[in-house]
Formats: sequence, C-alpha cells, structure tokens
Amino acid sequence: MSKIQAIRGMNDILPAQTPVWQFLEEILQQVVQSYGYQELRFPVLEQTQLFRRSIGEVTDIVEKEMYTFEDRNGDSLSLRPEGTAGCVRAAEQHGMLYNQQQRLWYRGPMFRYERPQKGRYRQFHQFGVENFGMAGPDIDAELILMSARMWRALGLSEHVRLELNNIGQADDRHRYGEALTAWLTPHKDKLDADSQRRLDSNPLRILDSKDAGTQELLADAPVLSDYLNADSVEHFAALKSLLDELGVAYVENPRLVRGLDYYNNMVFEWITDSLGAQGTVCAGGRYDSLVAQLGGRSTPATGFAIGLERLVLMLEAMERTPEALQRSADVYIINRPEQQLRALHLAEQLREALPYLRVLCHCGGGKSASQMKKAYNSGARVALMLQEDGQLRLRMLAGEGEEQLASDSDVVARLGSLPGLSGVA
Ligand code: ATP
Ligand code: MG
Repeated sequence: MSKIQAIRGMNDILPAQTPVWQFLEEILQQVVQSYGYQELRFPVLEQTQLFRRSIGEVTDIVEKEMYTFEDRNGDSLSLRPEGTAGCVRAAEQHGMLYNQQQRLWYRGPMFRYERPQKGRYRQFHQFGVENFGMAGPDIDAELILMSARMWRALGLSEHVRLELNNIGQADDRHRYGEALTAWLTPHKDKLDADSQRRLDSNPLRILDSKDAGTQELLADAPVLSDYLNADSVEHFAALKSLLDELGVAYVENPRLVRGLDYYNNMVFEWITDSLGAQGTVCAGGRYDSLVAQLGGRSTPATGFAIGLERLVLMLEAMERTPEALQRSADVYIINRPEQQLRALHLAEQLREALPYLRVLCHCGGGKSASQMKKAYNSGARVALMLQEDGQLRLRMLAGEGEEQLASDSDVVARLGSLPGLSGVA
C-alpha cells in the first residue's frame, strides 16, 4: 500500500528543528510582554466574508491564495491567510475595542495556496501584534522600536533593514491609481503579464513588481507622494522625526505598497538579503479604517506580522540556537529490569526536587552498555546508574569522573550542586 504523504508546502517540524522554534517563540513573547502586550487566540477557520471584506477582493490573497470551502451546512469558510482580520473580528466581537486601548499579540499557522519554495509555504506561521485605540505616530514609533528590539534579542540586527513608506488614505490611493493607470496604459505592452492584469484591478501592486522592464518604465511614472493628503504627510513626518531621535535607522522606499488593502498612512517592512527573493521577514503598518469596515466603530489601529519560517531559516544559518536546547535531557537514569520501580521512583523524586532538570528514565530494558550509549546520544550531562547491589553511581558524560552515592537524597543534593547542568533553567 502506498504511504500517505503530507500536503505539499505544509511542513512537519521535527524534534531536531523544534529547539530553534522554541528559542525564537520564547524571545518574541518576552519582547512583546516587555511592552505590555497580551495574547489573543482566535480560530484558524473564519467565514470567508471576513477576509474578503478586510484583505480586499482584488488582492492576490483573496483572488488566488485562500483555502476556501463549504462546510456541511453550506457556509463558505476559509482557513485564515493572515491574523489581522481574525484578531479584529475577535476583539470587536468581545467588546474590547470601543473607547479602549489594546496591545495584543498572537501566534499560529496561516494558510495560503502559493507555489512552495524556500521561505514560502502553504502552511506557515506568523507572530503578529496589533494595537487599537491609538492614533498618533508615538504608537507607530513604539511598534517599530519593539520590532527592532526583537532583532537585537535574536542577534539578527545586522542582517535586516527597515523600509518605510507613506501610502496615504484610500482616497489618495484611488486618485493616484487612476493617474498611474492612465499613464501606464499607452505603455501596456512593456509591462510584465502580472502587471498588465493589475492595470485595471489593482494598479498600485505594479509598483512592487520584480520585473526589470516594468521597474524601468515606472521610473518616469507619477509618484504616490504627490497625491497624499496633508494629515498623512504630517503624521508620517512626525513618525520619521521620532525614529530619528530614537536612533532607529530606516530607508524610505516609495515603491513599498503592501499586498493587503486595509493599510493606510505608514507601512513598513523589515527585509533581509540573506534569504534570496523571500526577503521580507516582518511587515506591517497602520490600518485605521479596518474596524469600521468590519462593522465596528471607527478605531485607529496599527500592527505587524513576522513570518516565523523565514526567521528560523536565518537563525539556522547563523547557528544561533543555544546548544543546551538541542539536547533532550540533562540526566539519564540507567537501570536493570529488577530496578524498574526504583528507577521510576528516583526519576519522580528528581523532578519533584529539581523541576528545571530534564530527567530521562530509561525504559524498555536492555544491556547497560546499550543504555549508556542512549545516555550519550540524548545529550545528557549526567548518567545515574542503578547497580545490581542497589548502589548508585553518577557518571559525568561531558567530561571525566564517576562517583558513588549513598542515597537518593544524596543524588538530589549532588545534582542540585552541579552548575549549568540544565539547558532550560
Ligand atoms: P510576500 O511579499 O513575501 O508574499 P506578503 O506581503 O504576502 O509577503 P504578508 O501578508 O504581509 O506577506 O505577511 C507577513 C509576513 O508573513 C511576510 O513578510 C512573510 O515573512 C510571511 N509570509 C507571508 N506569506 C508567506 C508564505 N507563504 N510562507 C512563509 N511566510 C510567509
Ligand atoms: Mg504574498
């Protein structure tokens, strides 16, 4: 019988890879908590309408990337392709938005039907933050500071750069889109196929086309900055001056438009050159009309999402995961069949007294030499051997040294006194 394989673009994350994930997730969580953010969890399935109304009908995500199906009731449901829509839906539904300020974070799998390649998958994971009820550039600056702190905490600062743009309000973009379409239409044959298709549906997306011919043509095209309203210009200038004062380096990229319709005013991306074409590791911006667009009362909002797979690829390449996290155990208990009970009991005592220790009690019998081999393979620093005569021996696996211990309480005291034994303390 043929074996069933995972769906293309949906990855298993194996025990050899989970340490880097845990390291990454823990650091990101620590950083957002240090800014007072609270976790919100929401479903991976939502009504399709939620994404159509927020992300936008003519975006790539809604047009061709969503996993959409009818459930047994005939309702159209979609797997979430991103987190903002669900986060806003949940916060609004539970009355968290009106007349309040919120700083929220979430983490989890997202689903998009894309062509799988390095850094681009059909199930991928985002760590995102959203905040509500704050209209000024101060929260935008704080958001960007927080993302910069994440890269510092992960040791990646030197490998990412910040790009910023002001995309104004929907009206501004609409007027600019018309001007851009009018200007590009006579040159339509020089555009790449995707851009030709977008000429009428979503002309702004042409700006971030990767095609060299299209980019050359755009050099003389009208620019969005000439179409922006005064409030957006002022907000963006204030944000930039805050970033300057706070020492956050950025480049302004007038071609940066996001692939989701709900953004307005400031948008940003953190980009790396170390991942090839899939270089954006974090993307976000302000989205002041989304809450109202989804039926709530108008509430200012900003947020960003990080693509975790892309950060994992960077961390792996740089071998940034703490060595101790890559081991599964600190202490390995070797025992004989007649001492199974004592071994299980000793392991429980150790976990009780030294809960930070990872204690692996050998199960399944076997010769002591083969158990010792498993002890080494587990990465444990210490092997405890229960011997025939009931004696307990402790062997240091990382270096030299073996000693006899008289009682279980001696073991607890001895292990408690060994510095740096645990990778998770
Ligand atoms: P891209 O231009 O790379 O397609 P996007 O604009 O579609 O990105 P967003 O919707 O802003 O991406 O999602 C935020 C982040 O999530 C991206 O910057 C990226 O790091 C990550 N991401 C998006 N799509 C995928 C995917 N299919 N696989 C892995 N990571 C992804
Ligand atoms: Mg995309």
